[in-house]
This record gives sequence, structure tokens and C-alpha cells, in this order.
Amino acid sequence: MATNDFQPVYGMTDIGPPEVYTWQQVEEQARKVLNKYGFDEVRTPIVERNEVFVRSLGDTTDIVQKEMFTFVDRGDRQLTLRPEGTAGVIRYVASCGQDALNGRFYYVGPMFRAERPQAGRRRQFHQFGVEMIGAALPALDAECIALQAHLLSEWGLSKFTVNINTRGLPEDIAKVGEGLRKMLSPHRGQLCADCQRRFEQNILRVLDCKEAGCQEMIKDLPPMTDFMADDSKRYFAEVLRFLELLKVDVKLNPRLVRGLDYYVHTVFEITHGGLGSQDALSGGGRYQISFGDRTIPGVGFAIGLERVIVALQSEQTQKWEQSHGVPLWFISLGTKAFEENLKLAMIWRRKGLPCALDMEGRSLKAQMRAASGRGAKWVVIRGDREIEQGLFQLKDLQTGVQEELDLPALLSKLAAAQIHNFGAPLM
Ligand code: AMP
Repeated sequence: MATNDFQPVYGMTDIGPPEVYTWQQVEEQARKVLNKYGFDEVRTPIVERNEVFVRSLGDTTDIVQKEMFTFVDRGDRQLTLRPEGTAGVIRYVASCGQDALNGRFYYVGPMFRAERPQAGRRRQFHQFGVEMIGAALPALDAECIALQAHLLSEWGLSKFTVNINTRGLPEDIAKVGEGLRKMLSPHRGQLCADCQRRFEQNILRVLDCKEAGCQEMIKDLPPMTDFMADDSKRYFAEVLRFLELLKVDVKLNPRLVRGLDYYVHTVFEITHGGLGSQDALSGGGRYQISFGDRTIPGVGFAIGLERVIVALQSEQTQKWEQSHGVPLWFISLGTKAFEENLKLAMIWRRKGLPCALDMEGRSLKAQMRAASGRGAKWVVIRGDREIEQGLFQLKDLQTGVQEELDLPALLSKLAAAQIHNFGAPLM
């Protein structure tokens, strides 16, 4: 078989042990933090109708133009693997009653973008995101950013920067676009190929182009706020005031625009020093998304979990558990002992003690090797004699000491070693 037969699809990655344990703990901690803020989890389908994304993200955005995995199903429907989480959650909110209109939701799961894979960029990646549904209120935007900083620090991250800017309202965005077009048109020919296209369709994105030539041209442009109405500037000033009140450090970045059409007012992106060139850990902002006759306002963010894992490795502040290996293995000498051990293992697991046993009837030596290879601290050895007399050979693999015990003695030994306190009588 060619080695490719064992690989996942191009740009996608398996997540197995030991790394998967870090993932589980990261997700668990995130759920705990979100519960403190009164959030509900929502699980929307991974596949949506194509227009759910095209209409909300905007048909001139990079994601919609170049990156969506879109296909036609057997019923001739145009469907898309979700490239981000917000559109699906807002579609869900639009389908609910009035109550959802001030809901707070979080989601976690895979997203799909047909980008060129590189470090920090996969075709299937995972996001933890939140959506705080509600009309434009500076305090809500500030709370959303503060929550994000709280979550990152709860994970043990500190070397991050919260970059913030405002896009103003759609009217402001139109004015900013006009102003930028006027200023950039004499230099249009020098922009990169992507920005040539963006010039007509999505000029704001020229501001955050990473190409050196474009950077050179945009560095002297005035901040976007220069083109905005006073109300929008006041809104942003209020967001900054609330962030100060909540003691969240932010860095004003007048070039930050974010890629999607649905954003209005506040936008933000958190970068992390340990990530290399793809240094964005999370991004988000305030949005307004329309489905049918309903327009849903809210503010939210999405954190890339692959990048969180890399950032954690770079900071090394927390010791993440690497494996859930079981502390106790049964060793069976003979068929009778195996059947009794199998029964007892099931009972003990139901009582809460993680334990395992070899199923293949191998030699004592092979079973011992399997137990210590899988991280066991103790083994319980039984053969025909032990079964007949109700005895157990308990061996401590760290000290090598082996003792013959009856059941009550065995249980108190396990409790004393803090392996497990069965509490209720066993059988
Ligand atoms: P975005 O909405 O594109 O700003 O994405 C939010 C976060 O998701 C980013 O800050 C990254 O951490 C993560 N992310 C986005 N695209 C990818 C990708 N292709 N591979 C891995 N992580 C990604």
C-alpha cells in the first residue's frame, strides 16, 4: 500500500493521543468559563445551504470567492461545509422565537476552508466561538472582548495582544471605501493582484494586505475613522472606555478591517507571539446579519483551537495531562481467572475505578509488559488458586512489592493508595 493510503485528506489532520488530551482539557475549561457568563451551547449542522454563507459573509469576500467547499447533493441542492460558525448560529437564532434575540451562545467544532495548507493553516480546523445576540451597545462589545481575554488567561496564555478597530456602520463603510479609492487610485497599478480585485469589490481589505508593496502604499493613509460619522466615532470611544473600566489592555490598530461583510462598528483580532507568521489566535466583532425578513445584531468571536494548542506549547505555563492510561490492570492466569477478571473489571468500572485487562490469554510476562506499557501503577494477578480461595495478588509496579490479599484488604489498600475509594460495598 502506498503511504498516502494512511493519510487524511490534503490539508486535514488526525488528532490522536497524547495531543487529544490537551484538546479535551482546553474545551472543558472553555465550557466552564462560558458557563460563568451564562452562555448556552448550540450545535448547528456542519453543512448548510450555500446561500447561508454567501448572503451573510458577502459574495466578494475571500472565503466565499475562493475558499468554500461547496457541492451539489443528490437532491440538486447547493450545499457548503461551514467555513465559519457565526452564519449557522445566526440562522439558528433567526429560526427561534423572540427569546433567542438576547441569547448567548457558544459553539465548538470543525470548520472547512480550501486554503493552501501551511503552518497554522489547515483545510479542516477547529474553532471555539461565541455569539452574544443583542443590539449595538458598547458595553456588550467590551464584555465580549473581556471574556475572550479571560478565556485565554484561564488556558494559561499571557503573551497575546488584543488589536481593535472600528468599521462604523454600513454608511461609514461606504464612505471609507470612497475615500480610500480616491486616495489609492493613482497607485492602483502597483497593488498586488488580490488588491487589484479588492479595489473595486472590497477595498477595505486592501488595508490589511500583508504584501510588502501594498503595505508601503497604505502606511500613510489616514485612519478609517477620519471618514466616519460622529456617532460611530462616539460608539467606538465608548467601547474603549468600557474596556478601560474592565482593565482590558488593547492596541488600537487603524488598519484592522476583518474579512467579512457582516461586521459593523467594533472589530478585533487577538495575535500571539508564539504563532509565527499566521499569528492570529482569534478574531471577531460586532455584526448585523439578515435572514429573510429578520436582521439579527450581535457581537462574537472565534478562536482557532489548533493555534491555541501551539500557543500553549510556546508558553508552557500549564502542565496538561498527557494520557488517560488506567492505573490498574488485571492479569489472568488461565481461562477461569480471565472470565472472573473480565466480570470484576466491568463491576469496578461501573463503581468508578478505571481498569483494564489483556483479552488475548497471553503469557504472564506479556500481560505484565502490556500493563506497564500502558501506564498502570498496579496489577491484580489471579489464577485458579486465587479464584478458588477468594484471593488477589496485588503488585505495586513502582516498588515491585507483591502481596496476597483477600477482597476487603485489597479494597482498603486501593483506597489507601488513593487509587479508588469504592464507598459502597462492592459485590
Ligand atoms: P477568522 O474568522 O478567519 O479570523 O478565523 C478566526 C480564527 O480561526 C483565526 O484567528 C485562526 O486562529 C483560526 N483559523 C482561521 N482559518 C484557519 C485555518 N485555515 N487553519 C487554522 N486555523 C484557522
